[in-house]
Amino acid sequence: MDKSGKKYVYYFGQKKVEGTAKMKEVLGGKGANLAEMTSIGLPVPPGFTISTEACAHYSANNGEYPQGLREEVLAQLKMLEEEMGAKLGDSENPLLVSVRSGAAQSMPGMMDTVLNLGMNPDSAKALAKKTGNERFAWDSYRRFMQMFGDVVMGVPHADFEHALQEVKDERNREADTDLDVDDLIEVIKRYREIYKKVVHEDFPSDPIDQLFKSINAVFDSWNNERAIKYRQMNDIRGLLGTAVNVQAMVFGNMGNSSGTGVAFTRDPSTGDNHFYGEYLMNAQGEDVVAGIRTPLPISTLHEAKPHLYDQLMEIRTTLEQHYHDMQDIEFTIQEGKLFILQTRNGKRTIFSWLRTQVEMVEEGLITKEEAVSRIPAGEFNKLFAPVLDSDYIAKKGLKAVSRGLNASPGGACGQIYFTADKAEEMAALGKDVILARIETSPEDIGGMAVAKGIITTRGGMTSHAAVVARGMGCPCVSGAGDININYKKGTFAVKDVELKEGDFISIDGFTGEVFAEKIAVKPSEIVQVLNGNMKSEDSLLFQDYEKFMQYVDEIRVMRVRTNADTPTDAHMAVLLGAEGIGLCRTEHMFFGGERIVSVRKMILANNTIEREKALAELLPMQRVDFEEIYTELDGLPVTIRLLDPPLHEFLPNDHTSRHEMALQLGVSVEEIAQKTAQLHEFNPMLGFRGCRLAIVYPEILKMQVRAIIEAALNVQAKGIKVYPEIMIPLVGHYKEFEYTKKDAIETIEEVFAEKGQKVEYKIGTMIEVPRAAITADEIAQSAEFFSFGTNDLTQMGCGFSRDDSASFLGPYVNDIDKGFYDYDPFETIDVDGVGKMVQMAVELGRTAKKDLKLGICGEHGGDPKSIAFFNKVGLDYVSCSPFRVPVARLAAAQATLAAK
Ligand code: PEP
Ligand code: MG
Repeated sequence: MDKSGKKYVYYFGQKKVEGTAKMKEVLGGKGANLAEMTSIGLPVPPGFTISTEACAHYSANNGEYPQGLREEVLAQLKMLEEEMGAKLGDSENPLLVSVRSGAAQSMPGMMDTVLNLGMNPDSAKALAKKTGNERFAWDSYRRFMQMFGDVVMGVPHADFEHALQEVKDERNREADTDLDVDDLIEVIKRYREIYKKVVHEDFPSDPIDQLFKSINAVFDSWNNERAIKYRQMNDIRGLLGTAVNVQAMVFGNMGNSSGTGVAFTRDPSTGDNHFYGEYLMNAQGEDVVAGIRTPLPISTLHEAKPHLYDQLMEIRTTLEQHYHDMQDIEFTIQEGKLFILQTRNGKRTIFSWLRTQVEMVEEGLITKEEAVSRIPAGEFNKLFAPVLDSDYIAKKGLKAVSRGLNASPGGACGQIYFTADKAEEMAALGKDVILARIETSPEDIGGMAVAKGIITTRGGMTSHAAVVARGMGCPCVSGAGDININYKKGTFAVKDVELKEGDFISIDGFTGEVFAEKIAVKPSEIVQVLNGNMKSEDSLLFQDYEKFMQYVDEIRVMRVRTNADTPTDAHMAVLLGAEGIGLCRTEHMFFGGERIVSVRKMILANNTIEREKALAELLPMQRVDFEEIYTELDGLPVTIRLLDPPLHEFLPNDHTSRHEMALQLGVSVEEIAQKTAQLHEFNPMLGFRGCRLAIVYPEILKMQVRAIIEAALNVQAKGIKVYPEIMIPLVGHYKEFEYTKKDAIETIEEVFAEKGQKVEYKIGTMIEVPRAAITADEIAQSAEFFSFGTNDLTQMGCGFSRDDSASFLGPYVNDIDKGFYDYDPFETIDVDGVGKMVQMAVELGRTAKKDLKLGICGEHGGDPKSIAFFNKVGLDYVSCSPFRVPVARLAAAQATLAAK
């Protein structure tokens, strides 16, 4: 405790427990749960946790401890020694501890860990005597030297490995386990020399010195490159630092009655409710996690050690009942006695998330609200990810060349590359990359992030590759042991097949199968059921999805619409739960077939009469478009936006295409070139577009409004309900809106009179020009709805070109030091700037018109973080592309829950 009385170190053990599961911010996830598990009576080796606040102080003060920390650590160590009846470095009864990192959010493998701390020649001898296992004692010392030297003091890992191999070679030893005491003492001698050569001092034998050096290394690892990258990639922000857990060691490598393992209370890949895990006898935890030896499935422990298996099963139930979620545990068996070293909410695939949460609701373990609030919205889209085309596989009679573990679901096909760097390089060139490694390590993270799929030949379901791939939602097959990857030769060989770098393979992360050829990937089961290509009763995934989306829809308040321009998109969006169209961009309809010819005629027109003639050709085509869309929407509202882009976008810009166009329209190439030059603008996005087109050429507006209303009347006549909403783009001044609205109403009245029928409709505007946001009260006088065009509002609000800013936005967004924007403002709404304009427009709009309907149709409408903001400011709906509709529904429900 420092002078101000601040406590930095918290004990957990039989003597006392100072933390709880709720203290994750201060104790990190690992520390908080060690305390909690001790409290509920689980067999946890005692220890203490140094708080994240101490780490924050250390990082901010150039590696200085807060006042009193050292003394506090020593006092807690004393308590631990008393509880264990052993002393660090003692020559009779030595205590050994592990020193592990653990932040509030888990960052597996990213920070440092030191095991077997407290080892020196005296304690090694004492340990040998005490355990009667001399080999174990010296092997523990060797492991400690290697880990401490590498992790804490930066001695190259390879130097140690090299020395170890040398001794093995000289003495004819196959495996590490073949080394006897004499051999190990020789290895230790060489390690000592290596250490001295690099560090320029002797390997420390004072355990207190070892301890504080290790604590510092863990603190330092909070800011190592890979930890920073991991936090960036996983959007982990606002944490103080890592906690440090110092805990009495238990040994899984004390012979064949000892072992170590990791387990999940349910399947992290599929969510199936069975105990799922792996273990290795006579091994330490690192052997499992690093994927160096392929472990055994936990079910085999049932036969080998039934009482331990039963005890684990009991703990599985206790933990799920206590934490109300799937747990990921680490355990060690020391000479037949079971210890739990860690529990945390299990990382899992989105498939596993969905199934575990739905089943836990049905089991009565959690509420629907809990289920909805937990599922990571950022990953929800992966449910719709493709799978390998099984029909193609069956038709061609393709056989898998290997089968590894189904470590992370999804089908992937691509070209194999053997290093993370090469994978990144090739992905940047637009290739679909499959990263093929013997095993992965945290250094490979960049290559894994860009890969379409990952395959390893070593390592189990909890190896680095498997855990990281699942976290990323990247299909992965791990431990495909019969494949031989030769990095030097750049080959991937299995059976009689030998592939080289750049050859195609396909992997099935659902089954673990590997195919040595290119196989198409096809839509997910959910999409297949929605499209009618699969029966819902054949897909458990679909059934869980349906149940879960029901929970979501019961909770959420905000509506979700879609941005769709074609009947096909509209159809899919409705199947995915869209409650209307929030943006139909009519210009997208102008490109197909004959339409583009008529559009170009309209652009080339020299006067209103010629323009009207071209528009008359377009009218029936637009009308059919709208009829089809209304029919798909079947009574749901459809917001149709009038023509928005600058006209030059419809003209060809290369000579050959101009030539073709000239022939088609019977005009000269020069005429086209001249018109193109006339339309040229230096800033087209701030130019002749949006409502400006309708103001200068009202006949365009009239044609489109006529098509919208005629189509509505035609569809209505068939007994289908229609709710067209006409939207005027790029309004900045209320007079622009009123001017265009007047023209629109005149046309509508004309059509009503001609047809002798009416239809309900609305006329509103986009709010996408800052001026419109600021004067929203004036616009709301005559507008029936607003839809925020946050793409343009961001472009004009931040002054970032939508089309060009990627070239310089990097340092604005991804640069940790500068950190101007936390997220790309075109992806996630810039709450403090652009968001403020949205909020202002909402408030101004609603003061002028209480029941003004408010929505958003910019890209942000499908982004969970932005959706939370839109919910907060009170929008009625968000609109996004069809495949983002489910995630938007989920994010809207989560926003409702968060606001409670
Ligand atoms: C917007 O600006 O946000 C918008 C939806 O319109 P567009 O992207 O078509 O400019
Ligand atoms: Mg726009």
